[in-house]
Amino acid sequence: MSGDSELTVVLVYPELLGTYGDRGNALALVRRAQLRGLPVRITKVPLGRRLPAFGDVYLLGGGEDAAELLALRALVADPSARRVLAEAPACLAVCAGLQILAREFAAADGHREHGLGLLDVICARLPGPRAVGEVLVEPLGIPSLPMLTGYENHQGDAQILVGAEPLGRVMHGVGNGVGIGVGRLDGAVQGHIVGTYLHGPVLVRNPALADRLIEWSVGPVAPVHDEAVEQLRAERLAAVGGKRFALRRMTRA
Ligand code: GLN
Repeated sequence: MSGDSELTVVLVYPELLGTYGDRGNALALVRRAQLRGLPVRITKVPLGRRLPAFGDVYLLGGGEDAAELLALRALVADPSARRVLAEAPACLAVCAGLQILAREFAAADGHREHGLGLLDVICARLPGPRAVGEVLVEPLGIPSLPMLTGYENHQGDAQILVGAEPLGRVMHGVGNGVGIGVGRLDGAVQGHIVGTYLHGPVLVRNPALADRLIEWSVGPVAPVHDEAVEQLRAERLAAVGGKRFALRRMTRA
């Protein structure tokens, strides 16, 4: 944690990277920290400001195509941004955020952009219509997580190369979109950087993932039960038939 012993959540360019309430990921981290009595604060980095190096969990949300390009240009122009994110205790990048951290991604007109290359992933465009709707993901890349629930709205896809692992297997929805029919995957995990196509916000719907990001920063935290979130999860899982998957996973664990 930073010198003053607060868990510091860094929201990167929230005015650009914040579709579908992704800023709520910061609030979820604050709540999970507060439930353990951990001091916590949010540092917002507006466009044009350099990323601070003192953060614990860095958050990049989703963005529309033009906003995504602006965010990429700004991160490339920040001489330390790539190193700060590479060395961060934890980083979560959602949708456009994932694409920005990838080796490359395809912009709206199809031209290829170099991403920051922190995830060994190449993003092109889904061949069909935009992927829009509920997503259910069985976790793979991070051990001992329960089912992940989220919402997606994107045109980009993601092909995972050797340096990264998928966050999980898509049971409902599109996610990375590559390999449809032969086991769809979502997201990418590389070290302490997690990319995903899940909005929701994903950390509100999946507090176990929020806890993992906190643990990468501060070490093990005690389990806590948040009834309102459990009800939300039950509702969202049921909406896509996920209760079945959730139970199956619990009995296997
Ligand atoms: N603009 C990107 C895409 O359509 C990212 C969208 C998003 O972040 N929701 O793939």
